[in-house]
Order: sequence, then structure tokens, then C-alpha cells
Amino acid sequence: MADKVRPYWQNYIGGAWADGSDGTRITVTDPATGEPIAEVARGTAADIDRAVAAARRCFDSRVLRDLRPHRRGDLMVEVARHLGDLADEIALVECRDNGKTLAAGRAEVALTQRYLQYYSGLADKLEGRQIPLGADYLDYTLHEPYGVSAQIVPWNGPLPVGARSIACAIITGNTVVLKSPEDSPLSLFLLAEACHRAGVPAGAVSIVCGYGAEAGAALVSHRDIDHIVFTGSVETGKSVLRAAAERVIPCVMELGGKSGAIVYADADLERTAASATRGIFHHAGQICSAGARLIVHRSIHDDLVGRITELAAKRSVGPGIEGCDMGPLINARQLDRVETLCRVGVAEGAALVMGGARLPGLKGHFMAPTVFADVRPDMRIAQDEFFGPVLVVLPFDTPEEAIAIANGTDYGLAAGVYTRDLRLAHWTADRLVAGQVYVNEWWAGGVETPFGGMKRSGYGREKGQEALLGYVQTKNVAIRY
Ligand code: NAD
Repeated sequence: MADKVRPYWQNYIGGAWADGSDGTRITVTDPATGEPIAEVARGTAADIDRAVAAARRCFDSRVLRDLRPHRRGDLMVEVARHLGDLADEIALVECRDNGKTLAAGRAEVALTQRYLQYYSGLADKLEGRQIPLGADYLDYTLHEPYGVSAQIVPWNGPLPVGARSIACAIITGNTVVLKSPEDSPLSLFLLAEACHRAGVPAGAVSIVCGYGAEAGAALVSHRDIDHIVFTGSVETGKSVLRAAAERVIPCVMELGGKSGAIVYADADLERTAASATRGIFHHAGQICSAGARLIVHRSIHDDLVGRITELAAKRSVGPGIEGCDMGPLINARQLDRVETLCRVGVAEGAALVMGGARLPGLKGHFMAPTVFADVRPDMRIAQDEFFGPVLVVLPFDTPEEAIAIANGTDYGLAAGVYTRDLRLAHWTADRLVAGQVYVNEWWAGGVETPFGGMKRSGYGREKGQEALLGYVQTKNVAIRY
């Protein structure tokens, strides 16, 4: 088991490791202690330019595109194998730069391997159509890669989020320049190392860490990219879309959420409480699809809130490296934001049942698990994304009212239903405006199930077979004999 984080990490550009163009570095800190743990080369606009040029050369050489598709898939299996060899180090860096537990870090490696293997299996299954046009014609469609795919990844799950996009791009014959998040860049450098060891062609995958406003903006506005995959906040997403609009290039947008689950009166309360507790407190709520709102039938509201607070109180909060159940928030800015929004909730008249403030006596950015009850849908805490361990519980009386509350935010990422009545579950799922609906288990699904947003949560899909369609463009070939 690796026990030390390497002190310095370079960017991976065109198949080689490189310092930043101006030699400056970004300091990475441990959110559990606030102390520096490593430095990474600071990717500049010039570094992005070099990475895009390498990706363009690789794409134009057709080295990936002309391969039998299953050979592109084989490459991803090799990446997964080498990632396995790096699993201990990845788990460690996920603990130290991201605040996860070692177990969660290892689970992320396994999840990432699943993505790589799943898309490897799909590499030779993306088929076109033959369209009948009568005698003297042959017509067929091709799924062609866009070219250079620019990918921007958030800090909360960089490894699986980055790897699934890279896998989709590579098996469809695109090349990739990925900008890793400045707060937690380390695991993606280990993915780059796995790509290198696996023999992914030089330039097919470049990974550059840099600040969003500098390297990120340079990447999405680069004249030589053909496609953007962005995962992050709505506000940043809008500026990415403006850059894409200038060049009229397609985007997959995976944005924020304020996902809510409806709990009907007949739900299994013990299982619902366990599922809802995990849905909001896993990774301290720093997950785009966290179950941030619980919309609960008034007759069981107090009972369920009691069960959830009991379960939440049993969770140990502290550094992931020490095996605590819940780690820190990513940085001081985010901790301030979550705490401020909690104060707004109290001022708005919501009932603060537990938490509501940072944990005293710990050096890192630790927020107490927080539950607000009797929340009204028009309160800010019911509308704004916390991206922290804060659950808001809203009572309802009728199913129609529950649907209106669930759909009553700008977001549409995930939604849930807890009930024993399958007919009611279908009725509800049909009316929820969200890219995915979980019934009786938050985060039911897997790498095979399409994931993405409606409304302000974005468009396009990651995961599952649907994701591949976001990485190819259709060409129709009509032949007159
Ligand atoms: P963020 O938008 O601040 O940053 C995301 C990425 O964009 C980072 O790599 C950042 O460096 C980069 N960036 C910042 N400014 C940029 C610019 N002008 N041009 C290009 N890139 C720029 O988000 P965050 O705080 O890192 O992540 C949290 C947000 O991401 C939350 O809103 C969360 O819901 C969302 N998220 C969504 C999904 C999903 O799949 N829908 C997954 C994870 C996170």
C-alpha cells in the first residue's frame, strides 16, 4: 500500500510528461487538514494548445479510426488492467486530495474499471443502418467521430467521470484533451499513466491540470476542438456553451442538481431512511445526483425525519484516511457557502433538526450532517444546490402536490420514489421531470444505465449505450448504381 503522495506531478501531453509552459505550479491541499500535499504543473493556454495540436495530429493520422473497432475496445481493457495495478495509489490520492475514504477510493477504481470494460464491449456494436431506396440505389449510414473532444471534469469524482468520457471518445475514434480539476487532479494523472502503460497512441489522450478560467477557458474556446464534454456547475456550463456557440460545436452538458425523492405513506420506512441517508451524506453530499430533497407524506414526516437523524448521528465525521464515514468539503469557500445557506434556511423559518454549522475542533473543512424539516418549496434551501451534507425535508398531502414540489426547481437531474405500490411508482416516474428516476433505492442503476439532466441540469447522456451517440455524428451515403 502506497503511503505517500508523490510530491510533484506533471501534465500528460502528446504521450509524454511535461512541466507547465511557464514552469509554475498549482499547490494541491488536503481538505481534511487544509495542508499542502503535492504540487502539479500548472497547465497554461500554451500547454492546452500543445495538447490540442497533438490530439489533432493523432486524429488526422487515423491511427485510432482505422483500427478494427474491437481493437479500440481492447485498448480500454488494457487501461483498466493497468489502473488495477495503480489501485492502492489511486485510493490514497482520492483520500488526500478529494477527502474520500480509502474504501471509497478503491470503489472508484473498481467503478472506473467497469466503465472501461463496459465501453470496450460496445466498441464493435455501434452499427449504422441500411435504408431502402428502391432499385439502383444503396444507402447506408456511418457513425463518425467528431475529431478532438475537449473534456472538462469537476473535482468531486474526477476518475470515473473522466474515464467514462475518455472511453466513449476513444472507442468511437475521437481523440481527447481533458482538463482535470485544480482542486483534486491527482487520480487523473494516474489514469494518464495507465493509458501510457496500455499503449494508447500518443496524442489520443492528453490530461492537463490548470485553472478553470485559464486552461479550461482556453480549451473550450480553442479553434481546433470539435466537441465538448463538460461536467460541472450550471454557471460555468453557460460560459462553456457561449464558447461552443462561437464555433457551433456540439456539447454534452452534465450540470448540477437539486434532486428530490417522493416518499409515499406506504413506503418501507426503515429501508427508505437508510437509502435517503446514504443518498445525501455519501461523500458529504458532494455528488451532482445527491438526494438533496425528501418530499414526504405529512402522515410519516416526523417518523422518517427521526429515523434519518438517528442514522446520520451514527456516521463518524473526520478524515477519510482514518476510515471515517463522512469526510470534509473540498475547500474553505465551499464550507462557507454551505454554512451561509444553512443560516438562510434558519432565517426563512425551516426547522433545523440537526447540524447546520461546521464541526468545531477539526482542522479541515468539515460540515456537520444537517437536516432541515418542515421546509417550504419556495425557501432558498429548497431551491439552491448546496453540494454539501444538507437534507431538506418537505411535507406534502396529495400525489399531485408531491409532483409539483419535486418538479418545482430549475434542475432536472435525478428524482426518486419510495412506495410499495408499483402502479403509483409508474404514475409518479412518468410525471417527474428528471433524467433518471430511482424507485425504492437512491442510485439504483449502474454503468449500463444512461445518466444526464433535463432542464438546467444539462443535456446529452453519459453512461450506458446512449452515451455513445453523443460522441459520433451520422453521415449518410446514398449511392446510385
Ligand atoms: P465548476 O463548474 O466550478 O468546475 C467544473 C470544471 O470546470 C473544473 O474543472 C473547473 O476548473 C472548470 N472551469 C471553471 N471555469 C471554467 C471556464 N470558464 N471554462 C472552462 N472550464 C472552467 O464545478 P465544481 O465546483 O468543480 O463541481 C461542482 C458542480 O459540478 C456542481 O454543480 C455539481 O452538481 C456538478 N456536477 C455535475 C455532474 C453531472 O454528472 N451532472 C457530476 C459532478 C458534478
